[in-house]
Amino acid sequence: MVVFTYAGCAVLSPLGREALWKAFGVPVFEQYLNSKNKLPATECDAHSGLHVVSGCEGFRLEHDICACGNPAPRLMRESRLEELAGLLA
Ligand SMILES: [Zn+2]
Repeated sequence: MVVFTYAGCAVLSPLGREALWKAFGVPVFEQYLNSKNKLPATECDAHSGLHVVSGCEGFRLEHDICACGNPAPRLMRESRLEELAGLLA
Protein backbone atom coordinates (compact mmCIF):
# COMPACT_ATOMS: atom_id res chain seq x y z
CA MET A 1 0.00 0.00 0.00
CA VAL A 2 1.25 3.47 -0.83
CA VAL A 3 0.49 6.45 1.37
CA PHE A 4 1.10 9.92 -0.01
CA THR A 5 2.27 12.62 2.35
CA TYR A 6 2.78 16.22 1.37
CA ALA A 7 5.23 19.03 2.06
CA GLY A 8 4.10 21.00 5.07
CA CYS A 9 1.76 18.26 6.24
CA ALA A 10 2.02 15.44 8.76
CA VAL A 11 4.26 12.46 8.08
CA LEU A 12 3.02 8.88 8.33
CA SER A 13 3.26 8.10 12.04
CA PRO A 14 4.25 4.71 13.43
CA LEU A 15 0.73 4.47 14.89
CA GLY A 16 -0.82 5.22 11.50
CA ARG A 17 1.41 2.66 9.83
CA GLU A 18 0.40 0.06 12.43
CA ALA A 19 -3.29 0.84 11.97
CA LEU A 20 -3.00 0.36 8.20
CA TRP A 21 -1.15 -2.92 8.75
CA LYS A 22 -3.88 -4.18 11.09
CA ALA A 23 -6.66 -3.06 8.74
CA PHE A 24 -5.24 -4.32 5.45
CA GLY A 25 -2.41 -6.72 6.36
CA VAL A 26 -0.03 -5.26 3.81
CA PRO A 27 3.16 -3.22 4.19
CA VAL A 28 2.87 0.54 3.80
CA PHE A 29 5.27 2.66 1.76
CA GLU A 30 5.30 6.42 2.13
CA GLN A 31 5.67 8.63 -0.93
CA TYR A 32 6.49 12.25 -0.23
CA LEU A 33 5.02 14.74 -2.70
CA ASN A 34 5.77 18.44 -2.95
CA SER A 35 3.25 21.21 -3.61
CA LYS A 36 3.46 20.51 -7.38
CA ASN A 37 2.70 16.78 -6.84
CA LYS A 38 6.27 15.89 -7.83
CA LEU A 39 7.99 13.07 -5.94
CA PRO A 40 11.02 14.32 -3.98
CA ALA A 41 11.44 11.13 -1.93
CA THR A 42 10.10 7.60 -1.64
CA GLU A 43 10.28 4.87 0.99
CA CYS A 44 12.00 1.55 0.27
CA ASP A 45 11.60 -1.97 1.63
CA ALA A 46 13.96 -1.20 4.53
CA HIS A 47 11.56 1.51 5.83
CA SER A 48 14.55 3.53 7.00
CA GLY A 49 13.70 6.98 5.75
CA LEU A 50 12.73 8.03 2.24
CA HIS A 51 15.25 7.92 -0.61
CA VAL A 52 15.67 11.25 -2.34
CA VAL A 53 14.47 11.20 -5.95
CA SER A 54 14.97 14.91 -6.61
CA GLY A 55 14.99 18.12 -4.64
CA CYS A 56 14.85 17.92 -0.84
CA GLU A 57 17.13 20.95 -0.55
CA GLY A 58 17.13 22.36 2.94
CA PHE A 59 16.42 19.04 4.60
CA ARG A 60 18.93 17.26 6.78
CA LEU A 61 19.67 14.01 4.94
CA GLU A 62 21.14 10.66 5.98
CA HIS A 63 24.00 9.63 3.69
CA ASP A 64 24.85 6.20 5.13
CA ILE A 65 24.06 3.32 2.78
CA CYS A 66 20.56 2.02 3.42
CA ALA A 67 19.91 -1.62 4.31
CA CYS A 68 18.13 -1.98 0.95
CA GLY A 69 21.40 -1.21 -0.86
CA ASN A 70 20.17 1.99 -2.53
CA PRO A 71 22.97 4.58 -2.20
CA ALA A 72 20.63 7.58 -2.61
CA PRO A 73 20.55 9.83 0.47
CA ARG A 74 17.51 9.45 2.70
CA LEU A 75 15.11 11.99 4.07
CA MET A 76 14.54 11.00 7.65
CA ARG A 77 11.26 11.30 9.53
CA GLU A 78 12.92 13.72 11.95
CA SER A 79 13.78 16.07 9.07
CA ARG A 80 10.14 16.19 8.04
CA LEU A 81 9.10 16.92 11.62
CA GLU A 82 11.66 19.76 11.72
CA GLU A 83 10.05 21.14 8.55
CA LEU A 84 6.66 21.17 10.29
CA ALA A 85 8.10 22.79 13.41
CA GLY A 86 9.67 25.49 11.22
CA LEU A 87 6.30 26.25 9.64
CA LEU A 88 4.72 26.67 13.07
CA ALA A 89 7.48 28.94 14.42
ZN1 LIG B 1 16.48 1.96 1.35
